Amino acid sequence: MAKFNLQDIVRDNIKKLKPYSSARSEFSGTAEVFLDANENPYEDLYGQKVNRYPDPYQLELKKKISVIKNIPPDQIFLGNGSDEAIDLLFRIFCMPGKDNIIINPPTYGMYEVSANINDVAVRKIFLTDAFQIDLEKVSAAIDDFTKLIFFCCPNNPTGTSLKASDIFTIATSFSGIVIVDEAYIDFADYNSLIFRLDEFPNLVILQTFSKAWGMAGLRLGMAFASKEIIQLFNKVKPPYNISSITQQFALNALTSSNLVSERINEIKIEREKLFQHLGELRNVITVIPSQANFLLVKFEDAKSVYAELCKSGIVVRDRSNVELCDNALRITIGTPVENSKLIDALKKLYS
Ligand SMILES: *Cc1c(COP(=O)(O)O)cnc(C)c1O
Repeated sequence: MAKFNLQDIVRDNIKKLKPYSSARSEFSGTAEVFLDANENPYEDLYGQKVNRYPDPYQLELKKKISVIKNIPPDQIFLGNGSDEAIDLLFRIFCMPGKDNIIINPPTYGMYEVSANINDVAVRKIFLTDAFQIDLEKVSAAIDDFTKLIFFCCPNNPTGTSLKASDIFTIATSFSGIVIVDEAYIDFADYNSLIFRLDEFPNLVILQTFSKAWGMAGLRLGMAFASKEIIQLFNKVKPPYNISSITQQFALNALTSSNLVSERINEIKIEREKLFQHLGELRNVITVIPSQANFLLVKFEDAKSVYAELCKSGIVVRDRSNVELCDNALRITIGTPVENSKLIDALKKLYS
């Protein structure tokens, strides 16, 4: 297997691409009068000033994130949700109809959807029964057209973790990009792999403001990688992909974030309580220990539990049709009141 060389795996059209040059990125000095972007000069039209285009590279916000994550701003990409970063990886590295990617199911559904949208073949190497990477099979599935390998840790929908050493074994021998999706890392009892980025030039780490930070409605995802990879993201992304309202909101949130870690701790405590209570139910086969903000629960009869919960006004995620998840429901950790309602409903149904 050839050694990783970024230029070897970037699509030719992206290498040649002359990116859109926005008014806001062509001028970087200070000025008082902005007549360069065909904006409306009146800022009093709504409660909030939105008449100007936002900073295309979100520098102020990235500086804040840089401090929190301990990584330089030029190794950070911000997208309209993690979904945008996932899609950009396909558009930068994968030739439609020719290249392939590897995913490790059961896992997050977006990798495959994004591959299908981009007409890129998906090779599925299932996790082992212990929900670990099947190293031999992943290695055997790699060929000259394999450009991306997606790992999710903690994994959705299992809540389990992959061995970092296995991820690095693949990253070391692979000449494409290894992605580690850490959407749930803030609920885990181990650290992000961000601090290993310097050792692995082909590593991309995804995180999000949607889960622990409580801003799913905002649509703000993060990718961390070498600055060469981040430059490619910046080249291909839509010029103004993060709205000024999103940037401002996230900046304010990051400045006053003391409540966030409190809430994360609360959710982790509730996770352990729920784990206990669910395990005591008669029709529960197993509850898988979780490093995320949800539990994967195997029931004797998941479909009917799902239907009965719906009747009680409680909706969980039916994963029983997913490979390796038969009879499993994925249950998000709610507030203490919501979790009690869930347990009460289940007890009423199955006692
Ligand atoms: C929820 C989730 C995300 C978040 O996606 P956003 O587009 O940032 O909301 C990413 N990856 C996984 C595995 C998830 O479960």
